Amino acid sequence: CGVIGIYDEKGVAKKLFFGLSSLQHRGQESAGMSVSNGSEIVRKKGMGLVSDVFKDGVLEDLQGPMGIGHVRYSTAGGSFEFNTQPLMAFAKNTTMSLAHNGNLINYQILRTRLEEEGMMFQTTIDSEVILYLISRYYKGDIVQAVRKAMGLIKGAYAVVLLLEDKLLAFRDPYGIRPLVLGDTPDGGWIVSSENAPIDIIGGRYIRDIQPGEVVVIDQEGIQSFPMEEEQKPKHCSFEYVYFARNDATLDGVNSYNFRRRCGEILYEEFPVDVDLVVAVPDSGIPSAIGYSQASHIPLAEGLVKNRYMGRTFIKPTQEEREMAVKLKLNPLSHVVSGKRIVLLDDSIVRGTTSANLISRLREAGAKEVHMRVTSPPVVNPCYYGIDTPSRKNLIAANMSVEEIEEKIGADSLRFISEEGMVKAARIAGDHLCMACFDGRYPVDPIVL
Ligand code: 5GP
Ligand code: SF4
Ligand code: MG
Repeated sequence: CGVIGIYDEKGVAKKLFFGLSSLQHRGQESAGMSVSNGSEIVRKKGMGLVSDVFKDGVLEDLQGPMGIGHVRYSTAGGSFEFNTQPLMAFAKNTTMSLAHNGNLINYQILRTRLEEEGMMFQTTIDSEVILYLISRYYKGDIVQAVRKAMGLIKGAYAVVLLLEDKLLAFRDPYGIRPLVLGDTPDGGWIVSSENAPIDIIGGRYIRDIQPGEVVVIDQEGIQSFPMEEEQKPKHCSFEYVYFARNDATLDGVNSYNFRRRCGEILYEEFPVDVDLVVAVPDSGIPSAIGYSQASHIPLAEGLVKNRYMGRTFIKPTQEEREMAVKLKLNPLSHVVSGKRIVLLDDSIVRGTTSANLISRLREAGAKEVHMRVTSPPVVNPCYYGIDTPSRKNLIAANMSVEEIEEKIGADSLRFISEEGMVKAARIAGDHLCMACFDGRYPVDPIVL
């Protein structure tokens, strides 16, 4: 998912709209916004893309100097209207609205406990537990209420929270999911899952919200409440591999440079003698550039991408996913025919994309298709908000590299090493979560 929050006296609805549109890659199932005029919060949300939900006129109902927004792709809780965000709650003397990116590992336990106490939930998402806890603990001091809730919830969260007169943002103690802070050209503030919204509205990136930090923005300006005991961060490495945009710089790592360096390192680790380097667009492009630059093998566009299709992985069922891959990417036979190619992609999860692309590249005349992947094999599910739900769907959890090579029909298949990937990030390896590759979960998953 993607979250955004803006405080700006000149109004926020349009800025939220443009910002959310630039976070669209983080979720296409639903979109929503809540805006406060200082005394009342108005919310609009629905299923679909940002541009579907915020059609003509809808923004006009969202007047005010502060607001939050959300785009969703479902990990916990199904893809239904009732699970769209932002959520709303009515606490002591105030309305609250919340949007969350991430996943709580102890959601079921907390929810069951709250239900036993008589609480009725309106959604099936973990985010509602966060909002409920905050509104329950709120006795006038919102930071204290957030801190109390943070003491109970475990897992990954980047949250924006709107009260009638203030905007808050907070991040889990490991900083698993990203959250950046910037300013707006009109002297306001913006927090967002990535920096693209800041760039797009003409603001400046200031810094990342720190792991465990709570930030409050209101008429008085901005206040920071850092976490008391400092902890080693564990930023999601998959943001850099796949999820974030190429232009995202999150916690000191720029996705584009990371991906390009992964391509260079892959060539050092697994060179291959071929005629062309071909990327699986979009997230394979920088790594193909890196592989080509390191190897001096020409880079060629071997796949045409349909820009109007969503991200394939995010489509919920397998049939939909396969059709989506076909619709989305088509080989350029004029380029690949008679050529030996190396195909660069960011990840192999279920194996759907690579198997499909390799067979179609061969049909288009490619003589050899070698595959290089800029992440290590995904062998463990993510419990922190990236949709790799169970081991049985992860091809690398069930097959060796040789078996996958055979199954997807590649002439050779190689994955970047874990060390290679850490080297590409250029931050301390122990500041990265790599649990889906190495099984070292920063927060113990509770598997029910
Ligand atoms: P597969 O087709 O092997 O299941 O998935 C790998 C492809 O899905 C890659 O091209 C990758 O870019 C894309 N992908 C899209 N969303 C995700 C995601 O959330 N996780 C992973 N691992 N890959 C994703
Ligand atoms: Fe990211 Fe993987 Fe860690 Fe999940 S398990 S937070 S996808 S690195
Ligand atoms: Mg891809």
